[in-house]
Amino acid sequence: MTAPLLEVHDLRIAYGKIEAVKGITFTVHPGQVVTLIGTNGAGKTTTLRTLSGLHPPLSGTIRFNGTSLRGIPAHRIVALGLAHSPEGRHIFPRLTIAENLQLGAFLRKDSDGIRRDTERAYELFPILGERAQQPAGTLSGGEQQMLAMGRALMSRPKLLMLDEPSMGLSPIMMQKIMATIAELKATGTTILLVEQNAQAALTLADQGHVMETGRIVLSGTGAELLHDESVRKAYLGED
Ligand code: ATP
Repeated sequence: MTAPLLEVHDLRIAYGKIEAVKGITFTVHPGQVVTLIGTNGAGKTTTLRTLSGLHPPLSGTIRFNGTSLRGIPAHRIVALGLAHSPEGRHIFPRLTIAENLQLGAFLRKDSDGIRRDTERAYELFPILGERAQQPAGTLSGGEQQMLAMGRALMSRPKLLMLDEPSMGLSPIMMQKIMATIAELKATGTTILLVEQNAQAALTLADQGHVMETGRIVLSGTGAELLHDESVRKAYLGED
């Protein structure tokens, strides 16, 4: 197998005295979709925020593309190729859709490449192209999710981290988002996906890790976890 793109080893993260992540280890290889699933408060969002440089780790190592991310500020982590589509989307509602996409390319200077990638975002999500000049705040929740994903892709990431892309969406919109993630996977995008919708995430994922109160309690391929009895009971609503 190729060298991992992301290597997380014994990572611990705290908010003051509260340890939210208690020593997790996992890898993401190029081209893989890896998912972290688990209940509210398990530490999934915290993990992504630390990988992005938004919250410092207590201890442990994070290596991305062979480089340690220790002490590297968030904007440089984006420049290294790690993009984050955050929980709750964080789009800029008064800016237009086109302007929101531009912000995702803020580190790039290749205007031709940016134009091509903007077109690609519009191909992936036609609604964004149709409404490019409208304020992003006029989009529905699902459309805003598309914009957040499109914006993250505008940095041409080596690894795309998606935090709860299906949160608050109608079943149809959720299917659409999941289909887009599958399409990104098919074109070789490497993805770290945090989801509460375990069924959808595990169906897509090459590897999955179940987090409970700051620890990884179970790991396996997406298919293995989908068929695991404890996962089915706890996360797929089976008796
Ligand atoms: P969710 O799906 O609800 O976001 P999660 O698995 O992503 O859950 P986190 O949001 O990472 O979980 O939260 C992990 C733990 O850290 C929780 O106990 C949470 O209350 C705590 N926590 C998160 N953010 C903060 C913060 N800013 N200050 C203090 N504690 C926090």
